[in-house]
Amino acid sequence: MTNEIIREIEELKKEKNAIILAHNYQPKEIQEIADFVGDSLELCIKANNVDEADIIVFCGVNFMAETASIISPDKKVLLPDNRANCQMADMVSLDELKKAKAEHPDCEVVLYVNSRAETKSEADIVCTSANAGKIVSSLKSDNFIFAPDHNLGIYSAKQSGKNPIIVPEDGHCYVHTMFKPEDIKKAREDYPNAKIVVHPECNDDVRQLADYVESTGGMVRLAKDPEIKQLVVGTEIDLTTRLTRENPGKEFIPLRRDAFCLTMKIITLEKVLEALKEEKYEVVVDKEIAAKARVGIQKMLDLS
Ligand code: SF4
Repeated sequence: MTNEIIREIEELKKEKNAIILAHNYQPKEIQEIADFVGDSLELCIKANNVDEADIIVFCGVNFMAETASIISPDKKVLLPDNRANCQMADMVSLDELKKAKAEHPDCEVVLYVNSRAETKSEADIVCTSANAGKIVSSLKSDNFIFAPDHNLGIYSAKQSGKNPIIVPEDGHCYVHTMFKPEDIKKAREDYPNAKIVVHPECNDDVRQLADYVESTGGMVRLAKDPEIKQLVVGTEIDLTTRLTRENPGKEFIPLRRDAFCLTMKIITLEKVLEALKEEKYEVVVDKEIAAKARVGIQKMLDLS
């Protein structure tokens, strides 16, 4: 049955000139049928360079598909399940962001890519977890508004030496804030020879105990380092699926086995097939909002 679905997906991809992009947190079977698997930055860059395709099937969550649609407005972008959202992306509202801008008119505004299109349209520049420190360092102002992830805002401020005003104060990812210092201590006891890497969305006390802090793209590169034989990975559990597939002979251990992003898992092979057959669910971003949001995304891509 699964083979039959995969065969149909392949046929429809050719017939409709479609490409499948998947985030590193997608389930194994989706990663395996994707044409490209990456983190948010890599997927942005890829979506910006898919001239050959007419349709992008985006296996990830809604803000990622919106971003692809904003930077590739001539493509039809499909999200196989329209309930695939990111809780963090919805944590900052347009009104909150506008209020912060009015209160701090001298601050430049950096929006984490994990945000909705309408809030991105109020940004001076967008960042991902792979480039947040570099983007914030590039700002002219010493104080900056950052939304919506508190932990990434603090992390990018430390990397750049600038002062963040974070909107909202408690924006967070429920998956990455699951990790606790005790998890790191236990991993050190259980795997004394392993290195430990965590994501910048983790709390500061966790980041400080890890050997490395990396975006998922950075973790993929770190895993290829010949010095790394055993790596404990503090991010969504399915990144270890990719690391294991790409690095035979090495061991990748999830820092917590319950670190699931539930909405990343609602995309299935059946839904990808249906998306291609019926060309649903098309992600459409209002033209005016998209034009404004594109400015901040393009600035980030130019600096990447
Ligand atoms: S892992 Fe966290 S930040 Fe990433 S999509 Fe899921 S909820 Fe959003």
